[in-house]
Amino acid sequence: MRKYVIMGVQGSGKGTQAQLLAKDLDLVHIGVGDIFRWNVRNHTKMGAQVKRTMATGELVSDELVESVVQDRLRQHDWNYGFVIDGFPRNGRQAEFFMESFDLDAVIHLELPDDEVRRRVLSRRVCPNCGMDYNLIGDRPEQEGRCDICGHELTTRSDDTPEALEARLRDYHEKTRPVLELFQRKEVVHDVDGRPPVDEVQNAIRKTLGLPAYVPADDR
Ligand code: AMP
Repeated sequence: MRKYVIMGVQGSGKGTQAQLLAKDLDLVHIGVGDIFRWNVRNHTKMGAQVKRTMATGELVSDELVESVVQDRLRQHDWNYGFVIDGFPRNGRQAEFFMESFDLDAVIHLELPDDEVRRRVLSRRVCPNCGMDYNLIGDRPEQEGRCDICGHELTTRSDDTPEALEARLRDYHEKTRPVLELFQRKEVVHDVDGRPPVDEVQNAIRKTLGLPAYVPADDR
């Protein structure tokens, strides 16, 4: 059983890296931001509750986030473990989490703020299937269209310069102390988030003592 958390500022590739790690190791990937975005896209009651908060780049209330994480983990479909990204994001969430789970490792993806701005403002997303793109390194085959479902791409509502600054501020003020808490427990692995996706994935696996990553094209 493996229990991992991936932390990092927005645009650091948390979601992408968590997905790659989860897929090969049969872990359940829990992306808290993805769960909220799914709810907004599908016009659920929760979606209506979080839509505005997310669009301004603010954090959703701890009560709601904790209940979402708890409900997801209560499904107990994670026979081999889980990898969670986007949580915990402040001291209270970290304490709530550590009361219930012994973590094996926290992967901290490091990315300088300037690179965050460059990446986030070029991010595009498919509002239909949720696929992520980036106009710098991961362009869709046909400009402005999703490779998977063909829908027109948009920007995430929280990828505006204003919301980005709010999220960066939150990250430095609230999320950094969480890292310090985990550092005291000696479970944090710092990984450079700047190299290409495959290289970052390999660095994560190396530091966790896992077999190297073989991209799908090379298998
Ligand atoms: P992310 O995709 O991780 O950047 O999350 C997108 C948005 O969802 C954040 O800007 C918050 O509004 C909300 N969110 C995701 N995870 C959390 C969390 N752990 N605590 C509070 N809000 C969160």
